[in-house]
Amino acid sequence: MIQEKDTICAIATAVGSAGIGTVRLSGPEAVAIADRLFSGKKRLSEMNTYTAAYGQLADEEGRVLDEVIALVMLAPHTYTTEDVVELSCHGGPLVLRRVLEAAVRAGARMAEPGEFTRRAYLGGRIDLSEAEAVMDVISAENDRALSASLNQLKGSLRKEVTELREKLLYETAYIESALDDPENYSLDDFGGRISLVLDDSRQRISKMLREADEGRLLRGGIRTAIIGRPNAGKSSILNLLLGEERAIVTDIAGTTRDTLEEKTMLGGIQLVLIDTAGIRETEDAVEQIGVKRAMAAVDTADLILLVVDAAEPLSEEDASLLKEIREGGQGETPVLVLLNKNDLTTVISVADAKSLLEKTGYSAEEGMALEISAATGEGKAELERAVHELFFSGRIEDSQERYILNARHKEALETAAEALSRVSESVDAGVGEDFYTIDLLAAYEALGRITGETLEDDLADKIFAEFCMGK
Ligand code: GDP
Repeated sequence: MIQEKDTICAIATAVGSAGIGTVRLSGPEAVAIADRLFSGKKRLSEMNTYTAAYGQLADEEGRVLDEVIALVMLAPHTYTTEDVVELSCHGGPLVLRRVLEAAVRAGARMAEPGEFTRRAYLGGRIDLSEAEAVMDVISAENDRALSASLNQLKGSLRKEVTELREKLLYETAYIESALDDPENYSLDDFGGRISLVLDDSRQRISKMLREADEGRLLRGGIRTAIIGRPNAGKSSILNLLLGEERAIVTDIAGTTRDTLEEKTMLGGIQLVLIDTAGIRETEDAVEQIGVKRAMAAVDTADLILLVVDAAEPLSEEDASLLKEIREGGQGETPVLVLLNKNDLTTVISVADAKSLLEKTGYSAEEGMALEISAATGEGKAELERAVHELFFSGRIEDSQERYILNARHKEALETAAEALSRVSESVDAGVGEDFYTIDLLAAYEALGRITGETLEDDLADKIFAEFCMGK
C-alpha cells in the first residue's frame, strides 16, 4: 500500500433532504481525523474494524454539528482498501456540508469525483472493468442493466479477459523460451497449435463484441422512433407503451434542436421513445405526413415502429415512408410494422405487410410485422416478443452471466482481434515464430487495457513462473 496518500472526504449520499446522509472519509488519517470531530463512549481509534458507535460531532470550536453513527472500517478490507470512516448524519444538505467542512478543517481533503473507486483500483482490489461496473450499477435504469453491471462488478469481464490474456501470454512466453532454449522447448508443429488458440480467442472476442452492442442497448435502452401517417394511431401506441410507467420526461439537447425523449419498460427491456413531442404534433391532421420530423427521430433510432391503420388499405404514404427509411441513412435499422386497430375489421394482413417489407428490401430479420390494438392493448405481448427477437435473438434471459461493455472495451477488443488476425496471417505465410510475438503481445496489451493491467511486469512474472523453474 502506498503510504504517502492523503485522506479524502466527501458526502457519499445524494444531496437533498433525507433521513440519513453519509460523509465518508478514506485514507491513512481517516480514523484520526474523524476522532477529532467525534465524541462518544469510545475513541474511534480504539474500535475494531466493521464496528459502529453512536456519538456527537462537533467542530474545533466545540459547536455541535450533529448526532451520528460512526462506522469504522480498517484497511485492507474496505471499499478503497484504506481505512474508511462513514459518518451517518441527518440527511439535510446544510448538516452534511458543515460536517464535510469540519472534516476538511480537521485535515482531510475533498475527494475528486470517483476518487474512492480510483483508490480501490490503485489498491488492487478491483480492476478497471470493475471500476467501470461501479458506475454502471449506480446509473442502471433497468433490472437487466443492473444485473449485468453487478456481474461485471463481481469480475465476470475481468475473468473472461484474464483468461484470454493468459493464453496469449503463455504462447508468447513459450516462443521466447523456445528461441532462447531450443533444447528444452520445441517449436515443431507450433503453427498448428497456435492456430487453434488464435481461432478460439478470436471467437471469444467476436462473441464479446456482439455483446458490446447488446450492452449498449441494455444500458441505454433501445432508441425507438414511432412513425406513420396521421391517424394511424401513433399517439395511441405511444400511450400504450408508456402505460403506467410514463414518468421520466427529459429534455435532451440534440445537435440541431432539442428533442423530447420518454423512457418506458417493455417486458424488461428499456425503450427510449424519441421525439415524442413530434408524434403528438402530427396528431394535427393539417400537418402532412411529417416525414422530415419523423426522419430526424429515425436518424438516431435503434428501432423503428411503423404504425399503419389496418382498418384501411395500405396507402401510398405507408409505402413511401418505408421506402424513405430504407433508402435513407438508417436503412439498417430494424422496422416493426404495427398493424394497428385490429379490434376493428381489418383489411391489411400480416402477410400484406411482410410483402411490402420484402418489396422495400427488408429481410425477415430486419423487418417484422404484427397486429396490435392500441385501444385494447391486444398484441402488446407479441410486440415485446418481436423486440426480444430483433435485438437479443430471443435470449435476453442469460443476462445473469453477462457484462456491459462500453466503447473503450469495444475498441480494445477490436484492436486485439486485428492483432490476432495478423498472427494468423504470419502463420499462414510461414514466417518465423519470432514474428508472432509482436502481434500476440499487441493483442495481450489491448486486452489488458480493459482491465487496466500493465504489460511488462505481467510478462516477466509469467515467464518466470511458467518456464524458468529451477533456473
Ligand atoms: P396518430 O395521428 O397517428 O397519432 O393517431 P392517434 O393515436 O391520434 O389515433 C387516431 C385515431 O385512431 C384516434 O381517434 C384513436 O382513438 C384511434 N385509434 C388509435 N388506435 C386505435 C385502435 O387500436 N383501435 C381503434 N378502434 N381506434 C384506434
